[in-house]
Amino acid sequence: MDLKFLGSGSAFNPAMENSNAYFAFGGKFYLLDCGETAFGRLWNNEAYSDSAEVVALITHLHADHVGSLGSLISYSHYVTGKKVTVAHPLDTIVRLLDLLGIDRECYRFRKLAESETYVFDEGLRVKPIPVEHVQNMKCFGYLLSDGREKVYFSGDAREVPGEIVEGLQDGSLARIYQDTSNKESDHPTHAHLSYLEEIIPPALRNRVYSMHLDYDYGELLRSKGFEVVRAER
Ligand SMILES: [Zn+2]
Ligand SMILES: [Zn+2]
Repeated sequence: MDLKFLGSGSAFNPAMENSNAYFAFGGKFYLLDCGETAFGRLWNNEAYSDSAEVVALITHLHADHVGSLGSLISYSHYVTGKKVTVAHPLDTIVRLLDLLGIDRECYRFRKLAESETYVFDEGLRVKPIPVEHVQNMKCFGYLLSDGREKVYFSGDAREVPGEIVEGLQDGSLARIYQDTSNKESDHPTHAHLSYLEEIIPPALRNRVYSMHLDYDYGELLRSKGFEVVRAER
C-alpha cells in the first residue's frame, strides 16, 4: 500500500497544499480526499492518466478535503472519459455535489457502511472508521488493505482509534498516516503532538506518518521519532 501525497499541509497552510493522497490498484486510481489544491495536482498526474477509473474515498466535507472534487468529477466525465466513484458513509456528499451543479449522471455514489469493510472489485478492502473531529460534522478515517499490507489514513481526527493503536502494536498495521497538530487549543480538532507522544511508544513511531501540518515542523517530529509524509512536487 504505497500511498503518495499531493500535499502535507493543513487547511490554513496552502503553501504545503492539502494532505490528500492517492494510490493505484487493480487498474483504478484511488484518491483519499480531494481538497482545494488537489485538482491542480491531479489533472495531469501520470497515475491518474494511466487509470481507467477513479475511486474517491472521502473522509469529511471540509474544503481542504473536498474543495476540488466537483472539478475532478467534471473533468473526468467530460474531458478524460474516466468513470468516477465517490465513496463515503453519508449522502451529504451527494447533496453538496448537487449544490455545486454536478449532475448525478457524472459519477457513481458508493455509500459505505460505518465501521464495515467494503471490498472493491479488485479485492481492495476499505473500512471507514468514525473519528472525532468537529461537533457539526462526522468524519471518518480509512483502514485500507490490498491483501499484502494494511494502512490507516486518519482524515481529520483528534484521536487515534483503539483498534488502530492495537494494530500498530501487534504488527498487523504497516503504517498510519495521522493529521498532527502542534498548536495549543481548548477545542482540539486534530491529534496533538503531545497526545501522540503519550499513546505511541518510541519503538512504533517510525510507522506513524504525520500530515496536515500547520507549518513545516518536520524536523521536530523526526527528532521525536515520527515520520512525516513527503508530498510529490
Ligand atoms: Zn483538514
Ligand atoms: Zn476537517
